[in-house]
Amino acid sequence: MSSGRTSPYAIGLTGGIGSGKTTIANLFQEYGINVIDTDAIAHQLSAPNGLAIPAIRQEFGDAAIAPNGAMDRTWMRELIFSDSGAKQKLERILHPLIRQECEKAAAMATSTYVIFVVPLLVESGNWRERVNRIAVVDCPEQTQIFRVMTRNNLSQEQVLAIMRAQVNREQRLAAADDIIRNEGDLSAAKKQVYELHQQWTGLAKAH
Ligand code: ATP
Repeated sequence: MSSGRTSPYAIGLTGGIGSGKTTIANLFQEYGINVIDTDAIAHQLSAPNGLAIPAIRQEFGDAAIAPNGAMDRTWMRELIFSDSGAKQKLERILHPLIRQECEKAAAMATSTYVIFVVPLLVESGNWRERVNRIAVVDCPEQTQIFRVMTRNNLSQEQVLAIMRAQVNREQRLAAADDIIRNEGDLSAAKKQVYELHQQWTGLAKAH
């Protein structure tokens, strides 16, 4: 049945760790575009009184919930480290809720198109089907490593381990309808954002 409002034209913005997804999404926000960040939603879902808390408690027990009512992230990280099935159990709880909250946010959007920021978009068949275009934020792997080592105070090995759990640069670029090169000077990225904003506005209006 129709909800009375068609879902807005949707861009899926992705990129490897540290590629600059948030930085680029913020530039689109400056043009008034509604940005829906799946990481932020996942965080809210498992914050105190978050929608995922009852299901997390039921699946993992009281130990999974910290005294403040949020998911105990340290406890969960340790469990996932020692029990590979736990990650899938948590994802089975979170993923449908993330999707539901994204659709709620999209239905309330006021901009010509919306941007979903989805770090593992290329890895997820569901998301690829949901969006009208896939935009990849790209930079050399050395730059990703440098940025994340600096920002998160991690070793090169730790950053590489995260990168190995994601698709590689080539696979990600192969899935892209649009590529935003975010290397070096941010003014170069701003110019690409301006051009894509024009293009996507036109596509969304014609949709
Ligand atoms: P994550 O996958 O970890 O969420 P992300 O893809 O959202 O990361 P950002 O958080 O936007 O990436 O950027 C990673 C780091 O690199 C940040 O510290 C940011 O300030 C910096 N950064 C992003 N783009 C540039 C740029 N063009 N020049 C210099 N630094 C940048």
